[in-house]
Amino acid sequence: MARRSMKQKSPQKQRPIAQRRDRTKAAAHAAPAVKPRPKQARVVFAFGGGRADGNAKMKNLLGGKGANLAEMAGLGLPVPPGFTISTDVCTYFYEHGNTYPTGLDRDVTRQLARVEELVGRGFGDPQNPLLVSVRSGARASMPGMMDTILNLGLNDETVQGLIEQSGDRRFAYDCYRRFVQMYGDIALGLKPETKTENDPFEAIIEKKKHERGVRLDTELTADDLRELVTEFKAAVQQRRGVEFPDDPREQLWGAIGAVFGSWNNPRAIAYRKLNNIPDDWGTAVSVQAMVFGNMGADSGTGVAFTRDPATGANDFYGEFLMNAQGEDVVAGIRTPLPIKDLERENPKIYAQLLKIRRTLERHYREMMDIEFTIQQGTLYMLQCRVGKRTAVASVRTAVDMARERLITHSEAVSRVEPERLNELLRPVFAPAEKSRAISENRLLARGLNAGPGAATGRVAFHADDAEEMAARGEAVILTRIETSPEDIRGMNAARGILTARGGMTSHAALVARQMGKVCVAGCEALLIDYESATMRMAGRQEVIRQGDYLSIDGFTGEVFLGEVANTPSEIVQVLIDRTLEPEKAPVYQLYAQIMKWADRVRRLGVRANADQPDQCTQAVAFGAEGVGLCRTEHMFFGEGKIGPMREMILSETVEQRRAALAKLLPLQRADFEGIFREMNGRPVTIRTIDPPLHEFLPHDEAEQRALAAEMGIPFERVRDRVAALHEVNPMLGFRGCRLGIVYPEITEMQARAIFEAAVAVKQAGTPVEPEVMIPLVGHVKELKLQEEIVRRVAAEVVRDTGVRFKYLVGTMIEVPRGAISADEIGSVAEFFSFGTNDLTQTTLGVSRDDAARFLVPYVDKFDIYPKDPFQSLDQAGVGALMQIAVEKGRAARPKIKMGICGEHGGDPDSVIFCDRLGLDYVSCSPFRVPIARLAAAHAVLGAAGSGGENA
Ligand code: ADP
Ligand code: MG
Ligand code: MG
Repeated sequence: MARRSMKQKSPQKQRPIAQRRDRTKAAAHAAPAVKPRPKQARVVFAFGGGRADGNAKMKNLLGGKGANLAEMAGLGLPVPPGFTISTDVCTYFYEHGNTYPTGLDRDVTRQLARVEELVGRGFGDPQNPLLVSVRSGARASMPGMMDTILNLGLNDETVQGLIEQSGDRRFAYDCYRRFVQMYGDIALGLKPETKTENDPFEAIIEKKKHERGVRLDTELTADDLRELVTEFKAAVQQRRGVEFPDDPREQLWGAIGAVFGSWNNPRAIAYRKLNNIPDDWGTAVSVQAMVFGNMGADSGTGVAFTRDPATGANDFYGEFLMNAQGEDVVAGIRTPLPIKDLERENPKIYAQLLKIRRTLERHYREMMDIEFTIQQGTLYMLQCRVGKRTAVASVRTAVDMARERLITHSEAVSRVEPERLNELLRPVFAPAEKSRAISENRLLARGLNAGPGAATGRVAFHADDAEEMAARGEAVILTRIETSPEDIRGMNAARGILTARGGMTSHAALVARQMGKVCVAGCEALLIDYESATMRMAGRQEVIRQGDYLSIDGFTGEVFLGEVANTPSEIVQVLIDRTLEPEKAPVYQLYAQIMKWADRVRRLGVRANADQPDQCTQAVAFGAEGVGLCRTEHMFFGEGKIGPMREMILSETVEQRRAALAKLLPLQRADFEGIFREMNGRPVTIRTIDPPLHEFLPHDEAEQRALAAEMGIPFERVRDRVAALHEVNPMLGFRGCRLGIVYPEITEMQARAIFEAAVAVKQAGTPVEPEVMIPLVGHVKELKLQEEIVRRVAAEVVRDTGVRFKYLVGTMIEVPRGAISADEIGSVAEFFSFGTNDLTQTTLGVSRDDAARFLVPYVDKFDIYPKDPFQSLDQAGVGALMQIAVEKGRAARPKIKMGICGEHGGDPDSVIFCDRLGLDYVSCSPFRVPIARLAAAHAVLGAAGSGGENA
C-alpha cells in the first residue's frame, strides 16, 4: 500500500473547519477549573505559518524555547505551527491552587483552531487527527529538567486516522505507544519507585520482546505495539489508580498542567539551585503541531551546534538518527551518527541545514544549539538556543567571532563567564603517566570526549551514592549506563562522569560541559549492572565494584583502571611552570587574547593574596598588580621560625620577648625582601600579626614536652601558658591589633623587618612600595597606637640607613564598628582594605568554622541567603556596611585607597559589587586573579553581558 504524503496540506485543500470540529470530541468537561484573573494581558502567543506574535527578546514571558520558536518562525525558517502559553500563567497557576486564569481555555481553543487550519487537520478528528507536542520552556535553558509530551491527541479512534494519513500501521502504533508512555510517566506519574527498579514501561516492553523472541524495539510489530498501548494503560490504571484519558482535550489540559507542575519537580529545583535560577520565574508551555522523524527511512531527527561545543572550532557539529523521534537522540538510547554523514544520506537537507546554520549565527551572533526533524524528506526546525559549551569553547568562539567581526571585543569579553576560567586552569593527565597506564594494560575502553579535563576517583553507580561519597571527601566518578536529569546532584558532586550510552549531545555530556565536569560519554564497552553494583568491560576480565578507582580523560575519551597522575593545564605550564612555549600553546593564546581585551575595559585593579615569594611569582604571572594581603603569621610557620616564635610567646618578661623577637627579625626581613623583589615595585600590603598566639603552640602533651625539652624550660610552664592562652571564642578574642597594642614590641619588630627589607631591596635597585596594614581595628585609637609605632620605626630606619622610601599605613575594615566609624579611622588610615571574611562573621554574628550545619540549609532549603555569604558577598548586609565605610572614609580623606582582601575578592558577583562601590582594587588568591580580572571587565560592561550562554 502506498503511503500517503504527510506533508502539510495547503489551506485550499482543507475541509471546512466547522465540519472537522463537529467530529472532534472536544468536550467541555475537560476544561480546567477557572478563577478570574486581574488584568486581561495577553497570555497565549502564536508562532508558525509565516508569522509570530513573539520574538527572541520575550524569553521572560515565552520561555527560551517559545521565544526562539517565535524568532525562527519570524525569520521564515520552517517551524511547525503552534502557540506558547506564557510564564505568567505558570505564576498564576501556582498562586491560585493549580488553576488557570479566565479566558485561557478560550484562547487555547482559538489558537488550536489556527494550528488546525494551518496544518489541515483536526485535533481529535478520528479521520485526520492533528497531533501536538506539549513542551516546557523556562527563561533560562534547563536542559531535560522539565517535561515534554509528544504525539498528544491519540486514542483508539484517532490512531485509525493516523494509520490512514500515514498508510503505516506500525508507525501509528509506535506513536501511540510513545504517547501513552510519556503521558503515563509525566502526567500520571507512573515511574520507578526505587533506585534499582527499572522503568515500568521499559519493563513491559522488555517482557514483550522476550515473549516475541526479538532483541530490538524495531522488531516489534504493529500488533505488538497495539498490545503495549493496552498494557501500558492497564499498568497506569493498576498502579496509579487512574483511567488513561481518551479525550484529546482532557489530554491537552492534563499535559499543560503536568508541564507547569514539572517546574517544581525535584530535579528542576536542584538544577535551579545550582544555576542560580530564581524559583519564581516559572515555565512557559508551548503546544506545537507534531512532525514525525520516525516515518521511515527518509525521516529522521537530530541536534546540532553551529560550532563545536567541546573545542569551539568553527565546524558544524551534531548528531542525527534516521527513522527516530525527538528524544531518541538526546536520551542516549541509540548512539547517533555524526552530522557530516547526513550529507551522504540526504545532501539537499544537509545543504539546507548549513544555510540555516549561517542564518542563525548571523542573526543571533552566537553559537547556537538546534533541534531539527526531517519528515519524509522535509526539514523542520524544532528548537534553537544559545549553545552550552566548554570553557575552552566559550573562549574560542568569543575570540573567533570577534575576529570574524560578528561581535565586538567587549562582547567577546562579556561572553566568557569569569568563573569558568577555572576550567582552563584545570589539570590534564601527564603524558608519561598515561603511557605507563597503557603499557600496564590499564586502558579499559574509549568513549566520547564529552567534557574536557582529567579526573581520577572512585566509582559510584548511583547519583545519591556519589553525593554521599563526595560528602565524605572522596573524589567520585559517577558511572552510569546513561544519566537522566534525576542525577543532577550526583553529577554535581562527582569529579567526573562516565556513561555507557549516548552521544556528545546526550544529557550527561550536556550537563557535564555546563558544570565544567570531566565527562566521557557513550563508552559502549562498559557493561554496568546496577543490581550488583558492578561493571565489566567487553572483552576484559576485571570486575569493577563501587568504590574502585577509575581515571577518565575528557580530552580523549579514554578510561583507565586505577589512578593516573595528572599535570597542570596549558596555561599553568606556560605562565607558572614555564615548561611550554606560548607559541605551542593554542589554548593559552586564546586565554591571553581574551584577558588582554578584558584588561582594556576594566577599571578595578586586581591584586593577589600572597605570603611568600613563590606565590608572588604566580600572582604576577596571572596578572596581579600588587599584593593585597600578605599574612605575616604564615611566615612564622616556616623553617627555623616557629622556634623563636614560640620562645617569644613563652617569654615571661619584655626582655625575654625582645630577645626572641630579635631572632625573628632577620628571618622576617628576608621573607619581605623576597616578596619585594618578586613584586618589583608593585604595591605590597603587609598585615601585622593577626591570629591568637595559642595557634602557634602545640596542644598535645607529647609535643609540649618536646618543646619544653628543646627550650630547656619545665614542661609545666609550657602547659600552663597554653592553658592561660586558651579562649572560649578565639575568633573574637585576643587577636589582631589587640596583640600589637598589648605587646607593642611585636609590631615594632614587624615594622622594622618591613622597612629594613624595603631599604635593602631599594638599595639593590628594585623599587618598593610597602603598605603596612593593621588588622581588626574597630576604634580609631587602636589604629593610632599602632600607627605611631610604625611611623616611629620608619623614621628610625631612615635615620639609621639614610635611605628614604615611600610607605603607607592603613587598616583592615573587618568589624562593624570599624566600618561605622570609618570617618574617624579614615583620618588616620591612608588606606582601607575590607577583610570581608571577618566582616561577614562579625556582621552576621556567624562563626565561619561552625556555620556549615545551618548555612547549608539556609542556602539550599530556606533560601535565606542566595549563596553562601562566605563565598559570595552578602551585599545587603555586609555590603551595606562597606558602603558606609567607603562614604565615611572618603569624606575624611578624599584620596583614601580602598580594596578588598577577603575570599570574596575572587568571586565574580562580589567583584562586580566592589566595582560599583568604587573600590580601587580587589585581592584574591593567585589562581583566581584571572577570574577577578575578567569579572572586573564584566563589571564595566554591565551585568547584561555576562554569561552569554545563559542569555
Ligand atoms: P527539552 O527541553 O527536553 O529539549 P523539547 O520540548 O525540546 O524538550 O522536546 C523534546 C524532544 O521532542 C526534542 O528532541 C524535540 O525535537 C521533540 N519534539 C518536540 N516537539 C516536537 C514536535 N512538535 N514535533 C516533533 N518533535 C518534537
Ligand atoms: Mg524535556
Ligand atoms: Mg529540546
